[in-house]
Amino acid sequence: MIDDGSSLTVEMEEEDSPATAFAPREPPKIQRLEESVVNRIAAGEVIQRPVSAVKELVENSLDADSTSISVVVKDGGLKLIQVSDDGHGIRREDLPILCERHTTSKLTKYEDLFSLSSMGFRGEALASMTYVAHVTVTTITKGQIHGYRVSYRDGVMEHEPKACAAVKGTQIMVENLFYNMIARRKTLQNSADDYGKIVDLLSRMAIHHNNVSFSCRKHGAVKADVHSVVSPSRLDSIRSVYGVSVAKNLMKVEVSSCDPSGCTFDMEGFISNSNYVAKKTILVLFINDRLVECSALKRAIEIVYAATLPKASKPFVYMSINLPREHVDINIHPTKKEVSLLNQEIIIEMIQSEVELKLRSANDTRTFQEQKVEYIQSTLTSSRSDPPVSPLLSGQKTQKVPVNKMVRTDSSDPAGRLHAFLQPKSHNLPDKVSSLSVVRSIVRQRRNPKETADLSSVQELIAGVDSCCHPGLLETVRNCTYVGMADDVFALVQYNTHLYLANVVNLSKELMYQQTLRRFAHFNAIQLSDPAPLSELILLALKEEDLDLGNESNDDLKERIADMNTDLLKEKTEMLDEYFSINIDSNGNLSRLPVILDQYTPEMDRVPEFLLCLGNDVEWEDEKTCFQGVSAAIGNFYAMHPPLLPNPSGDGIQFYTKRSESSQDNTELGGNVDMEENLDQDLLSDAENAWAQREWSIQHVLFPSMRLFLKPPAAMASNGTFVKVASLEKLYKIFERC
Ligand code: ADP
Ligand code: MG
Repeated sequence: MIDDGSSLTVEMEEEDSPATAFAPREPPKIQRLEESVVNRIAAGEVIQRPVSAVKELVENSLDADSTSISVVVKDGGLKLIQVSDDGHGIRREDLPILCERHTTSKLTKYEDLFSLSSMGFRGEALASMTYVAHVTVTTITKGQIHGYRVSYRDGVMEHEPKACAAVKGTQIMVENLFYNMIARRKTLQNSADDYGKIVDLLSRMAIHHNNVSFSCRKHGAVKADVHSVVSPSRLDSIRSVYGVSVAKNLMKVEVSSCDPSGCTFDMEGFISNSNYVAKKTILVLFINDRLVECSALKRAIEIVYAATLPKASKPFVYMSINLPREHVDINIHPTKKEVSLLNQEIIIEMIQSEVELKLRSANDTRTFQEQKVEYIQSTLTSSRSDPPVSPLLSGQKTQKVPVNKMVRTDSSDPAGRLHAFLQPKSHNLPDKVSSLSVVRSIVRQRRNPKETADLSSVQELIAGVDSCCHPGLLETVRNCTYVGMADDVFALVQYNTHLYLANVVNLSKELMYQQTLRRFAHFNAIQLSDPAPLSELILLALKEEDLDLGNESNDDLKERIADMNTDLLKEKTEMLDEYFSINIDSNGNLSRLPVILDQYTPEMDRVPEFLLCLGNDVEWEDEKTCFQGVSAAIGNFYAMHPPLLPNPSGDGIQFYTKRSESSQDNTELGGNVDMEENLDQDLLSDAENAWAQREWSIQHVLFPSMRLFLKPPAAMASNGTFVKVASLEKLYKIFERC
């Protein structure tokens, strides 16, 4: 926070003295910082970087009823920021106090804060700039024959205003920003300069204030990097600033609520459709005409996109929200960047549902291009760090979907790892299969959406899901907070004053089943880079089954069953591919699986069991029962089962003791001697990975998606899926008695 050299030295001197740590000493004397230092520190908080100065200046220009605002920037704003407008100007007699702290024309008493419609209101911005830069103001008011120019430093005029020729409005020049805050200046010089941020800011401003023309250019440059003209429609202004490729892929959204109990707002905006593909979400958000950020809303929108349009999961969104002024606290942040809203959660949820509705209803009219995605190795941690992306201003290119965002792979094995093949049980597996690696490619099937949308059997199944939904559980699922995993199967969740244990296997199975029905014939696909032979996979499943039951039956028989199942599935390939994106190629190899939830790939070691289940358990004759059966099999396959490798935290660790050496003696007699050394570290780290990834998916994919999509069936209220373990009220009663 304190980053100017002079104030830091106070602390440094004391730390530098080696004796202080040991010898008792006098308490250091507390001194009052010089006022100029205090002001500089405060100013540094309001003006954090060049772009924050530009924002303040442009907001002042907007407040002055300007219709044209132009910005010139030199050296990323460190050398010069110049903002010129054609607004009402500043009176001569106001110039002496213009840059003092807390001088404003917009606020006289505290209550005014709540009724203000202007951008700035604290009278801090200009003053702050004069403490950390050289500020020169040139201005003229209506009816005057000449204007005035005056420079400021540390809040005061450096000289009397000088008469000068001027065009309508005000021009404010901020030079040598942070000249007296060496550390900050250095950091800013080293970091990528702020010009990109300034261009981004003005682009955003320009699309909202479409009745004002904006321009922004580098000092000395002829061409402006932002150039917007006054346009009657918002879409036109988006087109002129962000390009045709963005504007043509937008849909209008609107939602409003006028609930007398408090939640009153209206929102209108534009959201991108499935043809818009970008690396990073752009959310241009205005609340009561103020450009702000709201990470909760951004996340909420991203979740909807990820779940509905996995391919286009980084949307472009413009939203303008208006709500009663007294419901917004703009004052929580010195730069007014973050705001807090009354009823924020309800508002976000309503917007989220509206966006979801819009995307879903647009589903049938979209067009798809096939897109191949290269395989990128990912780890849990790296998949969450976004690469910095410069603001996208000109045309958006079609970009590859970042695969590292979507595929769970084993970090230690670039080819991806199938844990089943590491299990001692499954030692003698065909090599072909073990090299199977998972690559997700975004493959759309060419199809006629109208044909499939009409399938009444699927509609009936979805209606069935809706009608079985338990309202109380729905409420719980929508509003619960994930606390953590209680054991391998149960998660602890909190809802209001209650704590529940929720069976994640059951919940995820149901969610995947429901999503399969909802995405019916509209799946993105997981492409298997090494297609695996169906018959061998099924045979594998049969052998596993036998091993589990402890009986060793006839291998010939198993092979025959496997072949029968393979033939059966081969017969159904067209249907499986068309409706479920399960592709079996002409050689009888499984080559593609559907994406049920974005950012989630099922455990590939469950593929054999899944195929066996498709072959054995699905009733193929009746259309509806067949779709239900396949969806249920997919649900079971994609459910978040505990990984097959035992959980290494806890008793499961026994499993990782090396068996080859005389391990029985060790574990049974010798206790834990050399336990560490006897662990199969590779297997152990595979297991740790698998468990960590599962937990991450439960928290970041399962719960957010459940909140959005799951319609919990009534049966879940009584079959142990949800178990109430504590309620605060009851606990209080117990404590009262103590
Ligand atoms: P605030 O905007 O919070 O009032 P500022 O320090 O940003 O505080 O501005 C102080 C005052 O200077 C404003 O209230 C306004 O009266 C005047 N002012 C600043 N910039 C302009 C401008 N471009 N045109 C007209 N008046 C301006
Ligand atoms: Mg202001």
